[in-house]
Amino acid sequence: MQKKIFIKTFGCQMNEYDSNRIYDSVKRLGFIKSEDQGNADCYLLNTCHIRDKAKEKVYHEIGRVKKLYRGRKKPIMIVAGCVAQAENQEMLNREPYIDIILGPQSYHKINDLLKNFINKDKIEETEFDTILKFNYFDKIENKNSNVSSYLTIQEGCDKFCSFCVVPYTRGPEYSRPFNKILAEAESLISNGAKEIILLGQNVNAYSYKDKFKEYRISNLINKLASYSELKRIRYTTSHPRDMTDDLIECYSTNKKLMPFLHLPIQSGSNKMLKLMNRKYTVEQYIKIYEKIKKINSSIEFSSDFIVAYPGETDDDFNKTLNLVKKIKFINSFSFIFSPRPGTKAANLDQIKKETAKERLLKIQEHLFKSQLNMNESFINKSIDVLVENKINGQKKLFGRNKYMNSVIFDGEENYIGKNINIKIKEVNQNSLFGKIEKNNMRAA
Ligand code: SAM
Ligand code: SF4
Repeated sequence: MQKKIFIKTFGCQMNEYDSNRIYDSVKRLGFIKSEDQGNADCYLLNTCHIRDKAKEKVYHEIGRVKKLYRGRKKPIMIVAGCVAQAENQEMLNREPYIDIILGPQSYHKINDLLKNFINKDKIEETEFDTILKFNYFDKIENKNSNVSSYLTIQEGCDKFCSFCVVPYTRGPEYSRPFNKILAEAESLISNGAKEIILLGQNVNAYSYKDKFKEYRISNLINKLASYSELKRIRYTTSHPRDMTDDLIECYSTNKKLMPFLHLPIQSGSNKMLKLMNRKYTVEQYIKIYEKIKKINSSIEFSSDFIVAYPGETDDDFNKTLNLVKKIKFINSFSFIFSPRPGTKAANLDQIKKETAKERLLKIQEHLFKSQLNMNESFINKSIDVLVENKINGQKKLFGRNKYMNSVIFDGEENYIGKNINIKIKEVNQNSLFGKIEKNNMRAA
């Protein structure tokens, strides 16, 4: 009999990729995905630990699951992801409803754990077995059939920014073998992928050496571009220190690399960058920006910002605001510093909550304004959109332009997977709305 698994994913694109790969694995045991969280034999929470009350969110979620299954057979409850890695045994002690704790580098064990699972056993798997994990998943086809598909090429981080929990939850930096990544890309393309987004916590630090040479992300991007059915290539998340010239050069030579770069700076103050252990200066960041803009002035940037990191004065914050005014980031993420247990910044004196909130509002006012300005610049223009899917329950389609903006328009499902021209009629901060231009559908 088929068993059902419900997977709920929190956090970043890497977690989304992992959840899909976990599903590729458990399908071999006869599991199928349940869309109904109240009807599953196995309930998996893929968690994120990057900010806020991550741990408490997981306990709340489990509370909801308990209520849903009250008076019925409980599902096998798995907590996976970065909270599982960080909290491990403590979670099993505190919440007896959890059956399995599964850290991000132990996902290859999931089928054995489920096969051998006998009620009342409590299991914790949080080893950093990254190589074994990827070896296991290399043997299981990636069945994802999204038009825009994620592909993890690198995991973990050795940079230890003072605020960040990733080196502790995902472990040391690891780059997958070049040929294994290409094999996975080929299967994604044969499943219908027209865009591949290369993923890594430090994606541009990708470095794989065989007997003959070192492969960098630039080699991957250039090789991927040779697949004729693949139309677009992106990568995220990059660190400014790893924006090497070979990668920057791709923006002039590779037409499939989209002209949009997410490059987190975190702060516009060198003092703060030093305290955060970011290992670059604002001037070095601007140099990268200028080099890329010189190649093609239509390449746009987005970034991440942390406000109210311990020690941030009004003057430091104003430097960040000045940077935001200088570089018109088109779509950025901004956060109030959130102390993460185990990191260097965990026990530093924190900035008052009201000041932190004020700073967040202020920076967001500028960021949102430049996002809206960018979106407004598309009004009455015809833009190239890769159509990704149908919007549930509506006769509308969803796609993205080259800058990752969401574009929504009326259309038939046969456009999915194709590049078409859309004339933009209206915009808001997050999306563009338009109409299909008549007779200009390009060959996909
Ligand atoms: N590796 C990327 C880099 O170095 O730029 C960032 C990856 S991190 C998963 C995504 C973003 O979360 C960071 O760029 C940072 O802005 C934010 N972040 C990470 N830790 C944080 C913390 N403790 N408090 C607030 N924001 C945080
Ligand atoms: Fe975290 Fe990115 Fe810094 Fe690594 S480089 S510690 S992932 S913020």
